[in-house]
Amino acid sequence: MTLPSLDQVRTIAVIGAGTMGHGIAHVAAVMGANVHLYDALAGAAVAGIDKISKNLAKGVELGKVSAADRDAALARLSAHDTLEATCAGVDCVIEAVPERIELKREIFAAIDDAAPKHALLATNTSSLPIADIAAAVRDGSRLVGMHFFNPVHVMKLVEIVRHSTASPAAVALAVALAEKMGKTPITVTDSPGFASSRLGLVIGLEAMRMVEAGVASAADIDTAMKLGYGHPMGPLELTDLVGLDVRLGIAEYLATSIGPSFTPPQVLRDKVAEGKLGKKSGEGFYRWSKDGKKL
Ligand code: NAD
Repeated sequence: MTLPSLDQVRTIAVIGAGTMGHGIAHVAAVMGANVHLYDALAGAAVAGIDKISKNLAKGVELGKVSAADRDAALARLSAHDTLEATCAGVDCVIEAVPERIELKREIFAAIDDAAPKHALLATNTSSLPIADIAAAVRDGSRLVGMHFFNPVHVMKLVEIVRHSTASPAAVALAVALAEKMGKTPITVTDSPGFASSRLGLVIGLEAMRMVEAGVASAADIDTAMKLGYGHPMGPLELTDLVGLDVRLGIAEYLATSIGPSFTPPQVLRDKVAEGKLGKKSGEGFYRWSKDGKKL
């Protein structure tokens, strides 16, 4: 089945309404698509739309979004209770469920049954092999990686990940969609951690080892990278933003696929075991207020 042209992508399903899913739904709705948002957790899709509404309101306050564009984007968003209803009649499905290969494969097998055969399929995985995820659907050539960054409505980069049997048309459509969402896409070959997660994690894991060894406090290590290297945010604050559980999952996978330099530090394992997942749980390497301010 032929993929739609860029202009024919009118409705997009987003699967998973957490940190990334609600952000992807936000930029897809602002782009002009109707967006169906779904999460397995009851109430999470509605909560996701509520967060989008708050972020758009902030955009209006700052003069970055007009009130009319905010209203139009919100009117294009809908929360759905089942994967079947979410995927019915859509032209593109973007998945943003937790970073577990078996879960992603299971979800895509269900999406393959529920979504129209012409739809572009995309996964927001940060590190997992796209080819293994694509093998879960009948026609894996229509599935690519679309790796957005957090917070999605602010960050410009999208990594488009091309596995060996992805169709050039699917890659080209993902690139065009990312551009239409106001992003700057880069194209990367399917390899563990792609370009961004692999490089970003090296710095994040080393910063954690330095905290463990008492080299400096988390805040001072972050200041070193901000003032010494011009990073907009330090690696430990970034880890809190991404989610310690998310970074642990990526580190475990890269340790097995690339090598022991990615072995997760004990401090990361301990914090995740204690439920200190970063900004979303109120504590990670920093403590966070309920309204998301660093304390
Ligand atoms: P998250 O935990 O914030 O959100 C995941 C959502 O998926 C949750 O709301 C959960 O209820 C839902 N979910 C779980 N099982 C589901 C199912 N079977 N069907 C539908 N929904 C289900 O995670 P996140 O940070 O948004 O990460 C999602 C994906 O995006 C991961 O692959 C992650 O690696 C990737 N990613 C994360 C970041 C980041 O900064 N957090 C950045 C880029 C990419």
